[in-house]
Amino acid sequence: MLDPFGRRARKIIEDFGGIEAFLERIPGYVDVEEVLERVTWENKPPENVLNAEEWKDLMTFYALLGALALSPYGFEMELVRDKNAEIYLTKLRKAETLEDISLRVKSVSDGEIPEKDRMILEKSRYRELGEEERKRLRIEYKMWLRHFIPLWEGSLKDVYIRNSWAYLRREEVLSLWTKAFEKNLERAVNVLYDVRDDLPEFYSILRERLAEIAREKFKERIEAIGSTGSQPLRPDLFPPCIKKALSGVSSGMRNYAITVLLTSFLSYARICPNPPRRNVRIKDCIGDLSIIEREILPLIIEAGNRCKPPLFEDQPNEIKNIWYHLGFGFTERPSLEDSGNSTWYFPPNCDKIRANAPALCKPDKYCRGIKNPLTYYLRRLYLERKEGGE
Ligand code: SF4
Repeated sequence: MLDPFGRRARKIIEDFGGIEAFLERIPGYVDVEEVLERVTWENKPPENVLNAEEWKDLMTFYALLGALALSPYGFEMELVRDKNAEIYLTKLRKAETLEDISLRVKSVSDGEIPEKDRMILEKSRYRELGEEERKRLRIEYKMWLRHFIPLWEGSLKDVYIRNSWAYLRREEVLSLWTKAFEKNLERAVNVLYDVRDDLPEFYSILRERLAEIAREKFKERIEAIGSTGSQPLRPDLFPPCIKKALSGVSSGMRNYAITVLLTSFLSYARICPNPPRRNVRIKDCIGDLSIIEREILPLIIEAGNRCKPPLFEDQPNEIKNIWYHLGFGFTERPSLEDSGNSTWYFPPNCDKIRANAPALCKPDKYCRGIKNPLTYYLRRLYLERKEGGE
């Protein structure tokens, strides 16, 4: 398989009955160790991975995406992204044509570029150029500007553009493909996030193993940031719905915005942004209640007080409901041991928020493709880590 997001891959997945059905079938065909071969190599991808049959290549790759859906935007995602981009790039470099990849590039036909322009672009008059260099300079592909611009990070002055097509060398296509691969991987993980609770146990086991490998591989970076779990909150990276809830809302939305949304979002974002399994309890993640009492509850209470009318003035019992949503049962003064008396509510998905409190959802550019406010937050942390170091 040359591109796991290309036309051919989509067709195979459709033949299995769609992505969910495909993921359900994967554990019957490949085991965890085979999947992990894709991310445990050093220096260059192993031959058996590069030469795997199409179905096996696709299954081992999508198995990793299923595991990432349980834990998006962590170091595991970096590991899967980098190792698999390299696997596919190695194959693409040997491929005869790049026309089948997900980028929608087309080969340039003879005479399409005026000879004078081609001579300049490919430096045909430079006699001293070797064969390799001539090949590298050859303008082989074109891409429709509408598809090209969102992926191109350089200046348009550096590209030969004609009749709404950008004309490209092979290496330029591969560099654009790498960016598209990353976007497609993120998009796929977000789609799978919606079905993560229905995925077979296989994916939880795989996720655990991936986390171990990522912890070892990124040991120094993880030590530099302290931990990948419980972390200080970054309100500047909160999604618009959470910022709106924090600023206080009107009476019709108060209970939903404060007790349901804010309580679940702030507690998971602060204590356990990437829960290791379903039904996790707060006492599995922290050793005492100080984080909740000193950092999370004050934010929730202040947001409640900003509501019109203030939430806790006319509904003092709502504090007990907040503890209930944190998993301590309906109580005012719980101890850590009470954690698990009720369910620790996970932040509702975006479609639920839009249905229950449409005024909270004012999406910004980072909301694109996002299914849950917590994933939004993890994505912003991931992008920041990627763009600006730790
Ligand atoms: S799209 Fe989701 S994360 Fe973004 S504002 Fe709406 S509910 Fe919040």
